[in-house]
Amino acid sequence: MLYAFLTLLALFVGFTLFRTYLFSRRDSIKADLRHIPVNLDDAVKRLSKAIQFKTVSKQDANEVDGDEFKKMHAFLEKAFPEVHDKLGKEIINHYSLLFKWEGTNPDLKPMMLTCHLDVVPVEPGTEEDWDHPPFQGAITDEHIYGRGTMDVQSGVMAILEATEALLKQGFAPERTIYLGFGHDEEIDGEFGASEIGRILADRGIELEFLLDEGLPVVEELIEGIKSPVALVAVAEKGYLSLELSILTEGGHSSVPQGKTSIARLGDALHRLEENPLPAKFDGLVKSTFESLCSGMPFPLRYAFANLWMFKTPLRRFLTTIPATDAALRTTTATTIFESGVKENLIPTLAKAVVNFRIHPNDSVEGVIEHVRRVINDDDIKIEKLFGYIEPSSVSSVENQPYKQLSRSIRQIFPEVAVAPSLMVGATDARHYAAVSKNIYRFFPLRAEQSDLDRVHGTNERLSIENYGEMIQFYGRLVVNTSVSEPADKLNQVTMAFTEAKG
Ligand SMILES: [Zn+2]
Repeated sequence: MLYAFLTLLALFVGFTLFRTYLFSRRDSIKADLRHIPVNLDDAVKRLSKAIQFKTVSKQDANEVDGDEFKKMHAFLEKAFPEVHDKLGKEIINHYSLLFKWEGTNPDLKPMMLTCHLDVVPVEPGTEEDWDHPPFQGAITDEHIYGRGTMDVQSGVMAILEATEALLKQGFAPERTIYLGFGHDEEIDGEFGASEIGRILADRGIELEFLLDEGLPVVEELIEGIKSPVALVAVAEKGYLSLELSILTEGGHSSVPQGKTSIARLGDALHRLEENPLPAKFDGLVKSTFESLCSGMPFPLRYAFANLWMFKTPLRRFLTTIPATDAALRTTTATTIFESGVKENLIPTLAKAVVNFRIHPNDSVEGVIEHVRRVINDDDIKIEKLFGYIEPSSVSSVENQPYKQLSRSIRQIFPEVAVAPSLMVGATDARHYAAVSKNIYRFFPLRAEQSDLDRVHGTNERLSIENYGEMIQFYGRLVVNTSVSEPADKLNQVTMAFTEAKG
């Protein structure tokens, strides 16, 4: 009996450890230091120039300075002569750009790279806090400063630098490549990316895959994971604000009649926050953690490798951390509450707005259903506010485009782990949903947690070394995904790269 028990125990330990071992292995993509010839000093000067155009998106479209976009178009034309000579160019809705690099094999589905030309404004009163003025494009020993260096003119410029360099080397893609640069991403992309997406759909184009800006290469993503993580967003959360309102009798506060509208709505809001939509540890989130497993300390690695045993405790643990909780479920946050005008008057009306970021497991209607059930008060009116967005579909992490994307990332950033993830905010990518099932959002920017405040904030900047990596990444991705013999083609366009980068 004891013998049988010990055998079983040994088998169990062996099995779970073996699974842990399997999860600990990293796929063996090696750094590939071949280098698409780009003069980094010149590229940095061109990026600095691009930063100087005030292509600022403002909520009020009348305040946007269209001339700045036109000046930027003219600058790009001078800066990238090969691109403008060999690629087709269309100007969409005055300020957005769509380039087409015709492939040699019309049987292959086209691919697309996108980023946006516009930037967010500098918050009035913070100009003085910048080490270098936000639209000067200052170049220091290590960095380029300015609005757009992280989000995301650096992306536009890096894509064009890589394209120009490949063209100069005579590179010809077999697959057609579109480059799309919208002009209003920061105010929802209604006239830029949305119009480009519509035009492509009208032309019957179906893309093999699309890469938009997105999440960066993050250092120290989770405590205990030593290597930086390249987060590739394969889905985007949806967005919904609901207005909840209740109308009651009101009256004088000296003779209250039952619960006031404030209290009833307060009860409902409390119930909603206490009963969020369920967190699920499956699908995308599971793939994220599986991809990160190899860099985790042993106990966590053991747990993730043996989810059949640890799923529930892990889910509970992850929901105690706000950032991972947001990845596991639709979040609920009350953002506005309005009621009452006078201290001795019971108000008739109480109103609140609750904002939801919808997980791809849920939907707008599903959330409304959940809210109705949880508040369980027919007197409370529920209305959806304008501007809601369904969550995106989840792009595959098993297909060729994802594998080639991961491969390209690891060739340029060899020390990173690549992990699929969920984007909490929205990008232009959603405007292309009709033309591709394989939509990925990743930006080859290295960011420490503290750098993330610079995006849309003060002292936005990019390291010159990282800009070199960006250009190489886009170039590598184009070669890896647009020809059938990327290794040979790479040899033709690269130089042996043995010394310092640059
Ligand atoms: Zn952006």
